Amino acid sequence: MASGANGSSGDTVLVTGGLGYIGSHACVALAEAGRRFVIVDNLANSSPRVLDRLQRIVGWRPDFVEADIGDGARMARVLREHRVGAVMHFAGSKAVGESVALPLDYYRNNVAGTLALLEAMRAQAVRRLIFSSSATVYAADNAMPLREDAALGASNPYGRSKLFVEHMLRDLQAAEPEWAIACLRYFNPVGAHPSALIGESPRGIPNNLVPYIAQVAVGRRERLSVFGGDYGTADGTGVRDYVHVLDVAEGHVAALRHLERAPGWVAVNLGTGQGVSVLEILREYERASGIPIPFQVVQRRPGDIAQCWAEVARARDLFAWRARRDLGEMCADSWRWQQANPDGYG
Ligand code: NAD
Ligand code: UDP
Repeated sequence: MASGANGSSGDTVLVTGGLGYIGSHACVALAEAGRRFVIVDNLANSSPRVLDRLQRIVGWRPDFVEADIGDGARMARVLREHRVGAVMHFAGSKAVGESVALPLDYYRNNVAGTLALLEAMRAQAVRRLIFSSSATVYAADNAMPLREDAALGASNPYGRSKLFVEHMLRDLQAAEPEWAIACLRYFNPVGAHPSALIGESPRGIPNNLVPYIAQVAVGRRERLSVFGGDYGTADGTGVRDYVHVLDVAEGHVAALRHLERAPGWVAVNLGTGQGVSVLEILREYERASGIPIPFQVVQRRPGDIAQCWAEVARARDLFAWRARRDLGEMCADSWRWQQANPDGYG
């Protein structure tokens, strides 16, 4: 257990962005691992109803502080009062298109917000951090599967904000070796908790494939637009590494255990290691839901790459973690969530 110079560090995990899609599933994984946690979220992209849902899943009401990670004084107080020993940092803005239109908002929330959090952590001698990074930090021209030492290079402000934070964390750990930091590079998290109580609740038209398919299946949208049928892939559609959100959540608990043994800075992919095309996932979703999903192939989406999947050896070797849930389970859980919550959290 961490023990800060000022005595503030304990064994509670601070989950920033813990009411969001991935953070809420991480809360369930922490509860299942018997870990205490406190959530900080500013509700920018989430609903307070998530707390009720988490309570139903874990059996007790999680501690929640409505606050912004950019408020350093507030963060320092939360770290102190809750005796936080480690932080899982999910809070941030994540829409690529929006980041192109509003770059300063993204640099403020994702980069400056993280900086404020880190300064509060340092002031409270909390030096264990798991950061939500992304496969988007890899340069576009790498060979597959993507190894963690592949060339980096983001192509939009969102990706660059993730890359800047990774660099910032690496510099910090190099200067202050007692820090223990894991940058987890998620591939494509999908699915939901099998209870159908928590899941992904996008506002407006979904940008991501699986939430879009889910809304077509439930009748909220007419048909899927498949962005490009002329890629150099087996069926011509884009290939990604879809990974169940609960596997991703459990990867965080495994990373935390690793950091408790080993200070340092590490970047680790969280994916399955399998590439799946748009048409393959569409067919799997049809199987899971029993509903035909109309689609039309349209122009490629600007900025998309043809294919992307993870090398997963490092997660296995360092964290003893691998993704366990298959594509059928991802689609079935997504569909169960979508049916039970056709309007998300409302
Ligand atoms: P999400 O939007 O569902 O969750 C993020 C949460 O953070 C939301 O509840 C939001 O209200 C909160 N938040 C945002 N800014 C905040 C701030 N300044 N202070 C406090 N709370 C704030 O997103 P998600 O899909 O759960 O993603 C979590 C993290 O993982 C993000 O950092 C995202 O960039 C990263 N990530 C997500 C994906 C993905 O496909 N979902 C892939 C790679 C990386
Ligand atoms: N995609 C699509 N139609 C959509 C949304 C996405 O064909 O409405 C494709 C997209 O081109 C990519 C894959 O689905 O090949 C995954 O896209 P998503 O936005 O979910 O994830 P990312 O691009 O971040 O990998």
